[in-house]
Amino acid sequence: MTKEKRGSEPELKLWDSPETTKKYTKNRKTGQLDLLWGEERPLFDDWDNRMEQKTARARDCQSYSDLPVRRSSATQSEPSIRRRAAVQYKAPARRRPVPPAANRKRSCRRRTRLQKELQSIAVYIAALLFLVLAAFAVWKFVSISKNQSTETGAISRITQILEQKKCEKPPMEEALLTPNPYSRPQDALSTVTQLYVHYTANPGTSARQNRDYFEGLAQTGLTSASAHFVIGYEGEIVQCIPLNEMAYAVIGENDHSISIECCYLDQDGKFTDATYQSLLKLLGWLMEEYNLDVSDVKRHYDAGGKLCPLYYAEHEDAWEQLKQDLSDYISGEKV
Ligand SMILES: [Zn+2]
Repeated sequence: MTKEKRGSEPELKLWDSPETTKKYTKNRKTGQLDLLWGEERPLFDDWDNRMEQKTARARDCQSYSDLPVRRSSATQSEPSIRRRAAVQYKAPARRRPVPPAANRKRSCRRRTRLQKELQSIAVYIAALLFLVLAAFAVWKFVSISKNQSTETGAISRITQILEQKKCEKPPMEEALLTPNPYSRPQDALSTVTQLYVHYTANPGTSARQNRDYFEGLAQTGLTSASAHFVIGYEGEIVQCIPLNEMAYAVIGENDHSISIECCYLDQDGKFTDATYQSLLKLLGWLMEEYNLDVSDVKRHYDAGGKLCPLYYAEHEDAWEQLKQDLSDYISGEKV
């Protein structure tokens, strides 16, 4: 084998420029010399020695098998550290880039879904508020109705009680006296504060007869006497004088009192049961009309000592019983 066949020798010549600090290499394609190093010193100070040794080794070789063979990668015992690191390192899987159009569609779908969810939540909240308001309105309506019914019930009960306590006006005959100075002077009755009970002092006479007696005084002029009411021994009631006018019944008390004459049969002046019951009804009605108490009911006897009504002036217990019966009658209890 000749030196020319080794192939590396012409190249080595080109590399060799010991006179200068510049090193060149020949471009295999263009054949031009490319500057390998500049003005600076060569990388290897022992460049010439190494080249000579290399050339001598090549010259001493007897065959291609004697040439130094570059180790192949298969003969390398172990991979380099960089190689091992590259093998061991596994790059993370790259995420597939999302196309912009798909991204826009996805965000649009997400926005639409979010809007729908918000709308659903708003609808739920509105429905809840509506239910709460409806429940409140129903509760308020029921409570108001209950209060109204309670108030109405209370008022009706009070009215009922008042109506129960109310003593109705007893049936009576209105036979007013002809105005005259002896029995119906037509003087105004200002305020009624007392109710006076009398007896006719004429046993066995009727209410109508006693009324006519008062009427007759206008002609006879025997005395001044009258009463607003006369109760017969059968219980009938005759009204002689209007309640806004004064009667001549009790001296000094006529201008603020109402008088009731009672007929009787017995000599002692005790009222019949019919007279007694009518008297209670009439007194009860007048007491409520003028807002009077049982204590405001008087005997003629209580104003001046005249024995009128005779039996109840002489029998104090009978008078007290009459007042008790009057209280019971007003309370609604039957006498
Ligand atoms: Zn009298």
